[in-house]
Amino acid sequence: MTQVRTRFAPSPTGFIHLGNIRSALYPWAWARSQGGTFVLRIEDTDVERSSQAAVDVIIEGMKWLGLDHDEGPFYQMQRMARYKEVLAQLQQRGAVYPCYMSTTELDALRERQMAAKEKPRYDGTWRPEEGKVLPSVPEGVQPVLRFKTPQGGSVIWGDKVKGRIEISNDELDDLVIARPDGTPTYNFCVVVDDIDMAITHVIRGDDHVNNTPRQIHIFRALGVEPPVYAHLPTVLNEQGEKMSKRYGAKPVTQYREEGYLADAVVNYLARLGWSHGDDEIFSREQLVAWFNLDHLGRSAGQFDEAKLRWVNAQHMKSCDNAVLAGLVAEQLERRGLTVTVDERLAAMCALFKDRCSTTVELAEWLSIYFSDVQPSEADLAQHLNEVSRPALVALRERLAALTVWDAASINAAIKAVIGESKLKMPQLAIPLRVLVCGRAQTPSVDAVLALFDQKIVEKRLQSI
Ligand code: GLU
Repeated sequence: MTQVRTRFAPSPTGFIHLGNIRSALYPWAWARSQGGTFVLRIEDTDVERSSQAAVDVIIEGMKWLGLDHDEGPFYQMQRMARYKEVLAQLQQRGAVYPCYMSTTELDALRERQMAAKEKPRYDGTWRPEEGKVLPSVPEGVQPVLRFKTPQGGSVIWGDKVKGRIEISNDELDDLVIARPDGTPTYNFCVVVDDIDMAITHVIRGDDHVNNTPRQIHIFRALGVEPPVYAHLPTVLNEQGEKMSKRYGAKPVTQYREEGYLADAVVNYLARLGWSHGDDEIFSREQLVAWFNLDHLGRSAGQFDEAKLRWVNAQHMKSCDNAVLAGLVAEQLERRGLTVTVDERLAAMCALFKDRCSTTVELAEWLSIYFSDVQPSEADLAQHLNEVSRPALVALRERLAALTVWDAASINAAIKAVIGESKLKMPQLAIPLRVLVCGRAQTPSVDAVLALFDQKIVEKRLQSI
């Protein structure tokens, strides 16, 4: 069997959002699942709109999500000489012809066709045919090159998402594949690249379905069998519109800033257009093991931030605490808190992660360890009273006297004070939390306290 080779071919004309990057995830997953090769190709021929900054964001987003490419990035603008070479081959084969029709003539043709309620299309004026006399070549006009689309018959391909697609050749006019200055046009470059990069599976957004019959013709004119196509349905935003920057889509990397784990985003995006039974939560390894092109969804996937948060929460639970510590340290740093990524930070993650959907929320919790806390007036008034105060003072003394500072010793001190004061656990534990953590609810208070420095706890209990 031939080695699977896939590609992601973004146009760097704006930041990359989740909808766009799903078109990288699927070819990546397919290549990885088949032990194949994943190529990154930057389609930057729209010089006006392309920018290096956009390329950087694409590469950064892919790196963050772990969508590593094996070859490239190849830049189309650097391949112009190659396109021209292949164009010359097509010319030699008689598969293209020069067309001198001016834009004014084309506009007039278009208007006539529209008036006659016909589909506007090039009418083949300059297409050479046996026995046909072509108009005389106008002076000083640089022609475009048009591709000689086969007449009659149709193009058929078995799309891995959409099933069998058949397009009648009569619907395709002769495509311009080189501009008057000789620069090749989009569909032609894509085909040359897909041939040179030996792409076996083109997995891309279904906004390209209309290009596919044209590209297949160019493949065949070059004597190459086209690859397998899978056209992925659009990703819709929460309002049901096509996800786009104009409708508030966020750059992929913003999800990192908002505290999402790369594996969770990969899991969420994989599920948004592909399924493995009813599995909702899976690891990157499982995705690679399970991914195939037979279970791609046919209908558009709709982005749902609440669902993404839920998927993220599940991944946080199973995430290695040392890894989480590294991620939460970045979030704490964003809040101006410098922390060391160590076992203590990992233990804090272990203790608090179950109640968080993102690492931003986790950092919010863990900030109680790295910055002063401000208990609310309402909490102080509610929980600090003449019943709890003496018990808290007694506890403060017991805690200060501890020589071993761990959850078990702290727990023993709390129990002893409960025993003496006859309070119920919450009557002591809640004001204790309010004073030390600035909030009335936390995980088990002895475990929470054990991760503080003993001196800090003492200090926070001074204001009783
Ligand atoms: N450059 C195209 C885009 O960003 C993708 C072309 C392709 O995958 O064939 O939409």
